Amino acid sequence: MAGNLYIVSTPIGNLEDITLRAIRVLKEAGVIAAEDTRHTRKLLSRYDIHIPLTSYHDHNKYEKAEILIAKMKEGVDIALVSDAGTPGISDPGYYLIKRTIEEGIRIIPIPGTTAFTTALSISGLSTDRFSFIGFLPKKRTAREKTLKTLSTIEHTLILYESPYRALKTLNEIREIFGERKVSVARELTKIHEEMIRGTVSEVIDKLGARPKGEIVIVIEGKVNDA
Ligand code: SAM
Repeated sequence: MAGNLYIVSTPIGNLEDITLRAIRVLKEAGVIAAEDTRHTRKLLSRYDIHIPLTSYHDHNKYEKAEILIAKMKEGVDIALVSDAGTPGISDPGYYLIKRTIEEGIRIIPIPGTTAFTTALSISGLSTDRFSFIGFLPKKRTAREKTLKTLSTIEHTLILYESPYRALKTLNEIREIFGERKVSVARELTKIHEEMIRGTVSEVIDKLGARPKGEIVIVIEGKVNDA
């Protein structure tokens, strides 16, 4: 019988944010496939988990997915984890999940946290309806086009961003969207956790010239004054 692929959510910072089920599944897996094995080793050692680790990341995902699928066909249970949060959400997990479905192998989700729901929950912006955008395209024209389309949407938007591009992105949002309310979540669940709320200009001022750490940008939807 084929093994299963477990999609295991892990913390986005604070190592205590993991479920009892996730710990058990990681302890019982045949192999743990991780984006960055050194990073995941810290989590495993905290919970006394001693299962073989193998890397599965953006640069080896195509070849590695086939190797992992072959292992599952031999009966090995694989637990997939990413550097933070839920595998498959804006990370290379998506490709392995897609290939595993195509091969008819069972996928079992082990839910936990994800950065965008954590940020949205404390943003103070409407949570009735929202769109998760993930990372914006890097190329200028595609980025501008995406932002122009997003600027017309009347519900909350959530973006992932790197600290290096955060200010540039906020400036582009101000230019294309005009002044809107935004909430920027930085280093969620970590020592320097910070939530900056205000108009785009206020948030740009408060964020400082060189923000550090991981960032989620939550943007108020277009206010329909009709
Ligand atoms: N799979 C992850 C999830 O479930 O949220 C997302 C992976 S994506 C490659 C990494 C991005 O998630 C970062 O650039 C940042 O936007 C966001 N992120 C992850 N951890 C975060 C944290 N502790 N605080 C704020 N944002 C975080």
